[in-house]
Amino acid sequence: MSKKLNNPVKLGNIIIVSAPSGAGKSSICDAVLASDKENITYSISYTTRASREGEKYGKNYFFVSEEDFKKMIEEDKFVEWAKVHGNYYGTSKEFLEKVLEEGKNIILEIDVQGGINIKNEYPDRACMIFIMTPDFKTLKERLIARNKDCRDSINMRMINAKKELEYLPQYEYLVINKDFSIAVESVKTIIASLKYRVQKDTIYFV
Ligand code: 5GP
Repeated sequence: MSKKLNNPVKLGNIIIVSAPSGAGKSSICDAVLASDKENITYSISYTTRASREGEKYGKNYFFVSEEDFKKMIEEDKFVEWAKVHGNYYGTSKEFLEKVLEEGKNIILEIDVQGGINIKNEYPDRACMIFIMTPDFKTLKERLIARNKDCRDSINMRMINAKKELEYLPQYEYLVINKDFSIAVESVKTIIASLKYRVQKDTIYFV
C-alpha cells in the first residue's frame, strides 16, 4: 500500500502580529525576521503618520500624504487599511500576494482592525498573534522609557491598549513579552508550526 501526501499549492503564510503600542512587537518581529531572512519577509505599510527620528522611508513605512493615501484607497491598492491613533495605515495588496506566491511567510505588524480584516480575507493563510506586556503598568513604563511619544500620545495609546485587548479572543495566539528572548522564541515556534497546518488544498490519499 502506498501513501502519498500531495500539497500542490505551496503558498506562504500571513503572520499577523498585533499589540498595543509599546508592547515590544517591532523588536520581536525584527529579531524573528533576522533569524530566517530566507523564508520570512516583512510587509512595509503605507502611513500618513509623520516619521519618527531614525525611521526611514521604505524601511519602516512608506510615508505618504493623506491625499495620496486616499487616492490609493480609491485605486484598491490596499488589502486592508485602518485609521489608528488618528493616522491612516495600509497594507499593500500587490506586495502581500507576490510574497505569498513565492511561498514565503510574511509578517504584518498591524492593528487589531487590520488583523481581523486580513483573517477574513485569507482565513486559511493567516495566523493571528497578539503580543502584550505582563500588565498595563509595564506597558506605560515602556512607552515612557522609549521616549518616542509626547504625554498626550502616551495617554491615547494607553486608552487604545485597553480597547485593543478586547479583540484578544479573536486572536489565535497570545505571547506575553516579559522576557524578550522567550517572546522571540515563542513567535518563532508558532511560525515553525505553520508548515504542518492542514490547508484547504492539502490532500492525503492512500
Ligand atoms: P506606529 O505609529 O506606532 O508605528 O503604529 C501604530 C499602530 O498602527 C500599530 O498598532 C501598528 O501595528 C499599526 N499599523 C502599522 N501598519 C499598519 C497597517 O498597514 N495596517 C493597519 N491596520 N495597522 C497598521
